[in-house]
Amino acid sequence: MIADKGLYVIYLVASLMFIFAIKGLSSPKNAAKGNDWAIFGMMLAIVATLFVLPARNDFVILTVALTGAVLGVLWGKNIEMKKLPQMIALLNGLGGLSSLLVGMVQIFAQKTYAFDVCVGIVVGAVAFTGSLVAFLKLQGIDYFKRFPFSNFINVCVFGALCFLWVMFAQNQTLINAGLVVGVSLLFGVTISLPVGGADMPIVISVLNACSGFAASAIGFALDNVVLIITGALVGASGTILALFMSAAMNKNLLKIFFETKHEAKTGASRSAKEASVGSAADAAFLMENARRVIIVPGYGMAAAGAQYALKNMADILEKKYHVDVKFAIHPVAGRMPGHMNVLLAEAKVDYEKVASLDEINADFETADVAYVIGANDITNPSARTDSSSPLYGMPILDVSKAKTVFFVKRSLSAGYAGVENPLFFESNTLMLYGDAKKVTEEIIADL
Ligand code: NDP
Repeated sequence: MIADKGLYVIYLVASLMFIFAIKGLSSPKNAAKGNDWAIFGMMLAIVATLFVLPARNDFVILTVALTGAVLGVLWGKNIEMKKLPQMIALLNGLGGLSSLLVGMVQIFAQKTYAFDVCVGIVVGAVAFTGSLVAFLKLQGIDYFKRFPFSNFINVCVFGALCFLWVMFAQNQTLINAGLVVGVSLLFGVTISLPVGGADMPIVISVLNACSGFAASAIGFALDNVVLIITGALVGASGTILALFMSAAMNKNLLKIFFETKHEAKTGASRSAKEASVGSAADAAFLMENARRVIIVPGYGMAAAGAQYALKNMADILEKKYHVDVKFAIHPVAGRMPGHMNVLLAEAKVDYEKVASLDEINADFETADVAYVIGANDITNPSARTDSSSPLYGMPILDVSKAKTVFFVKRSLSAGYAGVENPLFFESNTLMLYGDAKKVTEEIIADL
């Protein structure tokens, strides 16, 4: 009894650490500390749980836990920054898979139906396969997004899932359990597959929330307080992020899964000759003589690992030429929520210089140069003008209002949503073709 009380106190302390972690992670300044809180909280929860497992097989448990820990450390240490979004998607999926497996064990052990276990299994399975689809899409593997009648199929699969759930609740056979799991896994695939273009960040946040809620449901089944609280924290923060993302993109959360116009109808319709090309020397000259330069980073900055060169360029402009330099961050820039903030923080860019879309959009009018590096969709005006575009409705960074816009990218090709960007052909745009890091280093050499 005393041991039980002690365990609850330890779980409570671990839960508090997770709350501090979430609080810390809400601002770039305290994010590293927030992460430390999460690590300590998780260690405490794991150690406490190890001591109270009903049937302990220390050797197996420790071997599995240590193998997982070593793999996690190696993976985390060696992951290329540009692959971070894929890693997050996979980890999300693994969270869902854990809930699914623990739920299955509960069913086999108790041989009876429990609502919380079933929620954990179903939501965990959806999070698992949905995250695998998100992972593939982030890898650029997205061949099946146009499958016909996707809305109809989704409704049918969901209907079948509800029916099988009721059947399983009435008759707890192995076949019924297997059918619920199988159709849940299928639903994760069919619901995520048709979503594409600019809506992926929202889907990733929803799947993140699902993996949290699944864990929380399993926590109820296992009577494990720390799992209930942690799962609820992840579920709630994922939901808030999804709502925030959909508000930032002017989209309705539900409609995203049932919208059918995810295909870009525009290809590269205009000739490369119509776009004006600049050089690193042009960019260096215009920026060193500017009063205000706004840097707009996008996925290509992450792909090239250009954040250190970018920080270096900004420092030279400020210290040597007294230029006012700011970084403008679009909420869906890159391939995961906060992607650009993480990379700029890694390169030690001052937080004060980093502004969100709402904070900085009006400043483009007074900027001499917008330096758009590896960004495309987040500046594409078709989001305002073309109601058939997959980007339609998304707010954009008003880079074209700056006197000169440099686009640093390797070609005129479209961004993630597959939509041609008309800004490349504007009279105040100069294309700087090449790898983002290499071009920025050439500018630094000229400065
Ligand atoms: P985009 O994908 O629109 O554009 C990135 C551009 O970077 C490409 O056009 C590419 O052009 C260029 N690029 C790639 N590699 C390099 C390189 N090494 N050097 C220079 N340029 C390079 O990215 P944005 O950040 O503008 O927009 C993000 C998009 O991703 C949005 O559509 C968003 O919805 C979506 N998304 C966002 C997620 C998130 O959570 N933030 C998650 C999933 C999707 P080129 O090939 O010519 O070089």
